[in-house]
Amino acid sequence: MSSALGIFGGTFDPIHYGHLRMAEELANALSLEEVRFIPAGQPPHRASPRTDAKHRLEMTRLAITGNPRFVLDDREMREPRASYTFDTLTSLRHELGADRPLWLLMGTDAFLGLTAWKEWRQLFNLAHIAVAHRPGYRLTQSDMLPDILRRELEHRRCGAPPASPAESIFLKPMTALDISATGIRQHLSSGTSARYLLPDTVLNYIQQQHLYTTS
Ligand code: ATP
Repeated sequence: MSSALGIFGGTFDPIHYGHLRMAEELANALSLEEVRFIPAGQPPHRASPRTDAKHRLEMTRLAITGNPRFVLDDREMREPRASYTFDTLTSLRHELGADRPLWLLMGTDAFLGLTAWKEWRQLFNLAHIAVAHRPGYRLTQSDMLPDILRRELEHRRCGAPPASPAESIFLKPMTALDISATGIRQHLSSGTSARYLLPDTVLNYIQQQHLYTTS
């Protein structure tokens, strides 16, 4: 059986301990050999990231340095077009072959919005989805969970990670870290400390490059 690979896309504007801990806990729970961090170039479902792609890429590189399981993948930034997860997974499938288990990692807030994603039903032909509980977003009792996605969840939910390459949904409670990039940007623009919400190496880079100084 080939080893499982995690795919973790995000704006990472900036990357923080909520992201890193989520990737670490899901990697352990799913026995992932590797987690690919894929910073979004131009996310289609939200306001444009306020920070240049090159800075978000560098901050992600700094944050994952020292963890041999975490790997940076800049494929979405190489595209001049908007990046869709469907296209990213298609290109990864093409590279990695049909048999390798792929796990798309996301927090509950991202999962609740899944039906707005391009070809969202097709995502299950390309990968499994692992959802880590994010503070403030309840999933199973949530009014925010569309019926169509609730049915998909009931049908696909698995108790233990399957060996198949794609198709399932795995829900995982994680250490609750109520950290958001929005909150960090607010600290930085108002001049209050963001220390211990993100790695010092990332914070030092932000200060050197004078990022997030205005709201
Ligand atoms: P912003 O505040 O700018 O919206 P964010 O902190 O939500 O940013 P993103 O880059 O948009 O960060 O998130 C990427 C992924 O990481 C999403 O799937 C999101 O659900 C997940 N995530 C972000 N923060 C946390 C957290 N504190 N705990 C669990 N998952 C998280």
